[in-house]
Amino acid sequence: MLTTTEPPPDEICVGGIWRRGGGAVLSPYDPATGERITTVTGADTTDVDEAAAAAEHAAADPRWRGLLPHERARVLHRIADAVEREAATLAALQTRDTGKTLTETAALVASAVGTFRYTAAALETSDDALTTPRGPHLTMTVQEPYGVVGAITPWNSPIASDAQKLAPALAAGNAVLLKPAAWTPLVALALGRIVTQVLDAAGLPPGLLSVLPGDGRTVGDAVVRDPRVGMVSFTGGTDTGRGIAAIAAQKLMPVSLELGGKSPTIVFPDADLEHTVAGVLYGIFSSSGQSCVAGSRVFVAREIYDEVLDALDSATRALRVGPGTDPRTQVAPLVHHRHRDAVAAMVEQARADGARVVCGGRVPNDPDLAGGAYYLPTILDGLGPDAAICRQEVFGPVAVVLPFDGEDDLVAQANSTVYGLAAGIWTADHRRAWRVARRVLAGTVWINTYKQFSIATPFGGMGESGLGTEKGRPGIRTYSRTRSVFWGMAEEPLAWAGWSGGGR
Ligand code: NAD
Repeated sequence: MLTTTEPPPDEICVGGIWRRGGGAVLSPYDPATGERITTVTGADTTDVDEAAAAAEHAAADPRWRGLLPHERARVLHRIADAVEREAATLAALQTRDTGKTLTETAALVASAVGTFRYTAAALETSDDALTTPRGPHLTMTVQEPYGVVGAITPWNSPIASDAQKLAPALAAGNAVLLKPAAWTPLVALALGRIVTQVLDAAGLPPGLLSVLPGDGRTVGDAVVRDPRVGMVSFTGGTDTGRGIAAIAAQKLMPVSLELGGKSPTIVFPDADLEHTVAGVLYGIFSSSGQSCVAGSRVFVAREIYDEVLDALDSATRALRVGPGTDPRTQVAPLVHHRHRDAVAAMVEQARADGARVVCGGRVPNDPDLAGGAYYLPTILDGLGPDAAICRQEVFGPVAVVLPFDGEDDLVAQANSTVYGLAAGIWTADHRRAWRVARRVLAGTVWINTYKQFSIATPFGGMGESGLGTEKGRPGIRTYSRTRSVFWGMAEEPLAWAGWSGGGR
């Protein structure tokens, strides 16, 4: 088990065996300081091939294939217990690897534990269905695993997104090839070590889990293309997801895609200002804006526009920017200097397009933060909904505030991007909240709150924010196929044109 926050050895997991990968060397570093944490030799396509072969064997092995749902649930509970025992270490490791605050990484580890527990409970209480017969037979539908599932995750919330795929995929009886992002491989590897130890201790076949960090275009692509992989669950950018869907179409393979967003947060004149300001800021600046559901477009009713903008401005200036290890920090560094520079470039483009920088819009001056990938929480206004920064995902701490005049104008502006992941509505009028919630295109709508999640509540995007569902009971179904069985109960042979039995 993990006992220190020291980086793990240079090993990846290929077919249940921990060893050095054959691919490019990854250099995860602490974005708060720029210091390298360790090096990890990533996977190559030969490793993927070996992992897929082992996964195919493991998925078909009677020791796994033959487990009843409540027995698989017991394995998931043991994983949850083991992750929980290592919670502090995992949170500290993730803070080093991603820069996130310790408060957030502790919450992400707790979310991973909750995911394994919830999935175990859902599995143990799931029912195969005996459907109503429409003839002289019993009809039943059963859920069966795909066999080998590819799980590809991004860098922004590693342990939670890894668990969100791993738990239901194992629950459904699959073997998993987990491909974490190249910038942040450490937590997926640490989680993988815990999971493989539990699987080994339970006497289950090796190869049920491989952890294959590396470049997406080689390692991720090999996972998607491998003929033994029967389903891929992907979380990441929309363009990457589109490419994966194209390969899946050739293979006629199901995919689940959790993609990008440009989510609107909507403030009506009757909103409670204190709750609204706290919620809007949390929605965009927590995780330094590196969240698929970040409320990056803030629509404010014109009659309260100046008042709300002033309140957002002064509250944003009061946010504490610093390292994730400082318990007072609210806005931690971005994941990587390259990503910070991309965010800065998008703000510069917005400025050139006519944006007014209300606050932020630059790297902090504080010499203590000089080595880190910091960017100040930024508010822009003065742009229309068609400006590039109102349509493209920034994935950083940048909010654009826009006025609206009435519900129809609001809905037209809110729905003017290709995305449909999330939306927030701030109002005291529950009828209006319900009306607007149904008109705004978003897989998840928060009313008088923002960025709240529950493993029990299904999550998925509309439009170019993705397809398929994660979380909740439907999220477990994502990892299995439905099969039907007819059991003949007729006393007589089937009546068949021109032949009615006879002979024997
Ligand atoms: P990304 O698409 O660049 O990478 C995501 C993962 O896919 C990584 O593991 C990467 O190595 C891999 N990958 C890249 N190219 C690949 C290819 N051709 N074939 C197979 N795998 C490939 O995304 P990112 O920059 O790591 O993450 C940020 C994006 O993720 C944002 O767009 C964000 O909105 C999205 N995201 C979505 C959700 C959601 O639930 N909807 C959650 C978190 C992040």
